Amino acid sequence: MTGTVYKSTGSWYSVKNELGAFYKCRIKGKFRMKGIKSTNPIAVGDRVDFELETNNDETTGVINFIHDRTNYIVRKSVNLSKQTHIIAANIDQVFLLVTIDNPPTFTSFIDRFLVTAEAYSVKTILLFNKIDTYPEETLDEVRYLAHVYREIGYECIGISAATGKNIDKVKAKMIGKVSMFAGHSGVGKSTLVNAIEPDLDLKTKEISNQHMQGQHTTTFAEMFDLNFDAKIIDTPGIKGFGVVDMDKEEVGDYFPEFFKLKQDCKFNNCIHVDEPKCAVKDALDRDEIAYSRYRSYIQILEGEDEHYRTDNWDN
Ligand code: GDP
Ligand code: ZN
Repeated sequence: MTGTVYKSTGSWYSVKNELGAFYKCRIKGKFRMKGIKSTNPIAVGDRVDFELETNNDETTGVINFIHDRTNYIVRKSVNLSKQTHIIAANIDQVFLLVTIDNPPTFTSFIDRFLVTAEAYSVKTILLFNKIDTYPEETLDEVRYLAHVYREIGYECIGISAATGKNIDKVKAKMIGKVSMFAGHSGVGKSTLVNAIEPDLDLKTKEISNQHMQGQHTTTFAEMFDLNFDAKIIDTPGIKGFGVVDMDKEEVGDYFPEFFKLKQDCKFNNCIHVDEPKCAVKDALDRDEIAYSRYRSYIQILEGEDEHYRTDNWDN
């Protein structure tokens, strides 16, 4: 049987098969995904093959195959610095909620998030929330930022989770897909999920989850089916996308507008800082690249953005 992992407790996995039935599954023996050293071999979102077995009247599944992942996001363990925990796999898109005020979301944070998402091959859509609360000049800021990010290729939608403005547009984007929601604490993630599907109260689930937590367990991600052919992955207690280790030469590849110009730089290993005849810096001089993007890029290169680390976004 083939199914999708909806929940994981570390030793057991809740897997939904193609007919919609859930099975409690475990892994037999050792499982290794090639190239990934992680504490968990299987994560929420994984597609797996499993066989049923019955012991003492209980039918459970034994997972014997993991299908190739389109992508996956990880968290580095705090204690065991070398250990990686896979938070979720096969994510179609993440909605990054951005607020200009209450709380402020800085472009350095947005850009760091986008770089990480690009490195993970996860598509990001920007949602500018709380537009019902902004005066005209703040709305101008939203329009400017939306323009900057649309030019680079990111979809942007101005929404109000509180009034319901443009929630239909968000829902339309979610149909047939697995989505995640990200953004600083207080930007309106819970309010938005609630506006999308009132019956799904993740805050309550989060609390009940915490009761289930043992001393050495972490809170685990969980997938939910919504009532309109959409799935979401909720990641309670997980701070975010983690930090991807990148070489200096690699960072620019995750700024799509820099990457497009790279072939026109004189040096093929140009990192767009001090090199002569750099197409990126020329474009910056011509105002074809947003200064805020270049500034974020330099911050990431110089590692000066520790407090904008995306794994702190849910603090
Ligand atoms: P989370 O931490 O990202 O889950 O944020 P919450 O959903 O808990 O929202 C934080 C606060 O912002 C709550 O008081 C919400 O009622 C409020 N809020 C969320 N979205 C909106 C919105 O679009 N407009 C307004 N006016 N308030 C909102
Ligand atoms: Zn260059």
